[in-house]
Amino acid sequence: MTLLKREWITIKINMNNYTPVVGLEIHVELKTETGMFCQCNVGQFKADPNTHVCPVCLGLPGALPVPNKKAIEWTIKIAKALNCMINTHSKFDRKHYSYPDLPKGYQISQYDEPIAVNGYLEIGENRKKFRIHRVHLEEDTGKLLHVGSETLVDFNRSGTPLVEIVTEPDFDNSEDVKNFLEELHTIIRYLDVSDADMEKGTMRLEPNISVKKPNQSGLPPYKVEVKNINSFNFVKRAIDFEVDRHIELLERGETPIQETRGYVEKTSSTVSQRSKEEAHDYRYFPDPDIPPLEFTQKYIEEIEVPELPHKKIRRFVEKLGIKYRDAFLITRGKKSADFFETTLVPTIAKKIQEQKQKVPTNIHQLVANLFINKLKLNADADVSDIDQLVISILPKKTDEKLLQETIAKVIDANKNAAGDFKAGKQNAIMFLVGQVMREMKGRADATIVKAKLIEKLK
Ligand code: ZN
Ligand code: MN
Repeated sequence: MTLLKREWITIKINMNNYTPVVGLEIHVELKTETGMFCQCNVGQFKADPNTHVCPVCLGLPGALPVPNKKAIEWTIKIAKALNCMINTHSKFDRKHYSYPDLPKGYQISQYDEPIAVNGYLEIGENRKKFRIHRVHLEEDTGKLLHVGSETLVDFNRSGTPLVEIVTEPDFDNSEDVKNFLEELHTIIRYLDVSDADMEKGTMRLEPNISVKKPNQSGLPPYKVEVKNINSFNFVKRAIDFEVDRHIELLERGETPIQETRGYVEKTSSTVSQRSKEEAHDYRYFPDPDIPPLEFTQKYIEEIEVPELPHKKIRRFVEKLGIKYRDAFLITRGKKSADFFETTLVPTIAKKIQEQKQKVPTNIHQLVANLFINKLKLNADADVSDIDQLVISILPKKTDEKLLQETIAKVIDANKNAAGDFKAGKQNAIMFLVGQVMREMKGRADATIVKAKLIEKLK
């Protein structure tokens, strides 16, 4: 009984008084042809290990890094899409740590002068806002493969341009985090600067999590980082697991240890990897081999950002009269949104005109229904044979002669209903309309049928 009571109290406290505090770090590999500081052909997911390397990305003595112009441009593009302030002055720093995936003993990254700061991203129909702390550019590291007691290193990935996006700790629940990450993923794919493929690790997610005690002001005195998660659902589960774990510790009067943890898929839980005691002093300093970056306002302004998904949704809803939910689904991929707007709608409208029919005013919503339900949002759908689709959209064509005959037949067979209507029972007409429609096998417009029936009965 005591146990039950204690559990009940715990649950009650959990729900009412603790607030999760979550921030995100997102790494995105850019799909440039060459490396961040070398001419290596990067993005070789399937290549044999260590076949796309050179003195620069292997960190051989004397090799000189030269920044990739495209990577810088694309980082600014991402930052603009995230409403950031672009710094006109920026630089690369060396971030030192000792790990076998890092041939130079340091990673070229950006420390105190990142490319962009102070942005935000709004999500969902009511545009909930989450702040972006910074966006910077760095080089990716090599990949480690642990085989038994051995660790193998593949440097193909090292030197791939890597954008790091850091949010403010603005999230208080895992659902918002998931929605935010999905929107960010969609935006990055719209910008066409990365495959952002979780499976291949070209988009990697790291939540940092803490829990605020009841009535605590400011941020909690600790945070736990969960490293390199490769799915939105796993991020959500890792956060849920951590929040419960922290609350349990806080309930006992303890403070969770500041540490880095790893996500375990099998158990939907996390395990400790290293604690803050070993925390790195990265000894950042400006890379003496790379001159600082200077951007003119004109250069920044000329980097174009395409119409982003939320703006497309708004235009679809306000200008084209499509329901929010449908507009949302269609705009999850730029390809499907473009296919819908520039291929599917015009093709179907043209077909309708060819059949000497009037294009319905709600053509966009009608085609949206088709695209979602019949074509399953397939942007590669074959539109050469869309006659069936057109038929399902068109107002029913009514065969006048057949309709008159059918009406006469139905009235004759339903003398009671016809009499009821003549006697003033208005709903009797709907029964007769139903009978006519059935006889016509749906090849008639119900409004016309009703009008003709009334005309005949009067
Ligand atoms: Zn290289
Ligand atoms: Mn990083």
